[in-house]
Amino acid sequence: MRLSNYYLPTLKEAPAEAEIISHQLMLRAGLIKQVSSGIYTWLPLGLTVYKKIEAIVREEMNNIGALEIDMPSAQPAELWQDSGRWQDYGPELLRFKDRHQRDFCIGPTHEEIVTDLLKGEVQSYKQLPITVYQIQKKFRDEIRPRFGVMRGREFLMKDAYSFHADSASLATTYQAMYQAYQQIFTRMGLDFCAVEADSGSIGGSRSHEFHVLADSGEDVIMFSDGSDFASNIESTQSLPVTTLTEPTEAMRLVDTPDTKTIAALVEKYQLPIEKTIKTLVVKAATDCDSDLIALLVRGDHELNAIKAEKHPWVASPLQMASEDDIRQAIGAGPGSLGPVNLPIPFIADETVAAMSDFGAGANIEAKHYFGINWGRDVALGEVMDIRNAKVGDSSPDGSGHLRMARGIEVGHIFQLGKKYSEAMQMTVLDEHGKAVTPYMGCYGVGVTRLVAAAIEQHHDDKGIIWPPAIAPFSLVIAPINYGKSAAVTQFADDLYQTLRDKGIPVVLDDRGKRPGVMFSELELIGIPHRVVIGDKTLADNEVEYQGRTDESSQRIATDTVLEFLL
Ligand code: ATP
Ligand code: MG
Ligand code: MG
Ligand code: MG
Repeated sequence: MRLSNYYLPTLKEAPAEAEIISHQLMLRAGLIKQVSSGIYTWLPLGLTVYKKIEAIVREEMNNIGALEIDMPSAQPAELWQDSGRWQDYGPELLRFKDRHQRDFCIGPTHEEIVTDLLKGEVQSYKQLPITVYQIQKKFRDEIRPRFGVMRGREFLMKDAYSFHADSASLATTYQAMYQAYQQIFTRMGLDFCAVEADSGSIGGSRSHEFHVLADSGEDVIMFSDGSDFASNIESTQSLPVTTLTEPTEAMRLVDTPDTKTIAALVEKYQLPIEKTIKTLVVKAATDCDSDLIALLVRGDHELNAIKAEKHPWVASPLQMASEDDIRQAIGAGPGSLGPVNLPIPFIADETVAAMSDFGAGANIEAKHYFGINWGRDVALGEVMDIRNAKVGDSSPDGSGHLRMARGIEVGHIFQLGKKYSEAMQMTVLDEHGKAVTPYMGCYGVGVTRLVAAAIEQHHDDKGIIWPPAIAPFSLVIAPINYGKSAAVTQFADDLYQTLRDKGIPVVLDDRGKRPGVMFSELELIGIPHRVVIGDKTLADNEVEYQGRTDESSQRIATDTVLEFLL
């Protein structure tokens, strides 16, 4: 590629609306251009990067036997009504009507379409397991699109779906996906962490998120530095950006035992109630001087919803507390907000019983143990003595110390179980000829978010530093006085042609810009390797080489330059 033919609209200054470094750099380096809130055009340089990520993801999916398909973005409401999500999904689902007044939505995810597809194709257990995937634009009408493509409304996702005759087969594919995800993020040169997670509106039981560790991350994760324990404990998606630079809400909660403060924060930032309860459990876990566990409720209605659907471990104590107890603790009755303090002995038996239903340990002494459902995934059976635990102490499995960090969620894998296959009446015949409902898994990677996440981790004050595997070009030839000096022009053109012929992703800066301007632009766009060609060095039969993170350049003899670069 010759830069004179390229579209590279770089900016000297970051536009004021860009709050985090990756957004600033993506605009400055001319990777993206905003069209509307959370909606972007990808320019040539940005597109090259996301195509590289896409290629890595595709390779790793193909390696584990997943089959690529392409499903539509426009999805008929009927399928979403069958699964129940037409009602449940909320305003993030962008809905519209066609000219016949039929309801449609733009896919935020594709469980319905894929279940409907394979329902018609798979008749026998012998055709299972099967895993399909696509790499396709999604649309979610995010309440607070921000940070550029990090939280866009339209974004590129790899989404995979697997179908199984039994839960053991699902567990095997889940494990293969887990490993494929580790491969993907390792190949991309990212510092990441896999954590236990909440399965949110997708549903299902077991799930893990993959987080790129970065201070601008919207999630707070807690992990042990001496074992595999790691969990997402808080999402700060709904917090104003200014608070992201301070210690997180969750960190403060862990330090502050005052439930009134927490209630005030919930009110102020309109924190999602479920996340808050989770945070409170962490608080209780890390500050158990008193025998109290705080449960925050926002009136009976919401409380009931939580009870019924997701929190057997929360539901039990609340069922045991009389309505009067709760009202008294809340203060003003339904619709109001306030902390409820319930003594642990009062709730522990029931809680433990609810947990053992999910396979947690049985011989638990109620007074001394309390189960923490870190990611609402009680099935994991993390039951432990937390009476004296604090951040910095050992955690659930007895090894290492608890640490907290901010993370950017770049991947998420779920064991869905039968949620969609049951709702959409998919069955296959088992080996006895009996109709059974298959198990499902689903697995997402945020491809466009990864571009931003990689920049959050890899930049300096001059600009982006692409990890080699996703760099738009690996090498730039930067001639001084291109077009003016015949010797420089000739050498640069020859080197460019030779490298191209050898298949090296090389770019030639033939724009004839002043060296200072040229160098700072090339640093901004983050190309890993640079060769500078100038009359002075050429007179000594040398060129200058500098890696993007090298302190200074080194001279290379012109007759060894190919050898050096290849
Ligand atoms: P988040 O918690 O950040 O809202 P999510 O949990 O809603 O993400 P999933 O449903 O798990 O997202 O989707 C799979 C992946 O898609 C996420 O792990 C993330 O990398 C990516 N993703 C989700 N929402 C967005 C978005 N608004 N912009 C860019 N990427 C996104
Ligand atoms: Mg989301
Ligand atoms: Mg999430
Ligand atoms: Mg997720």
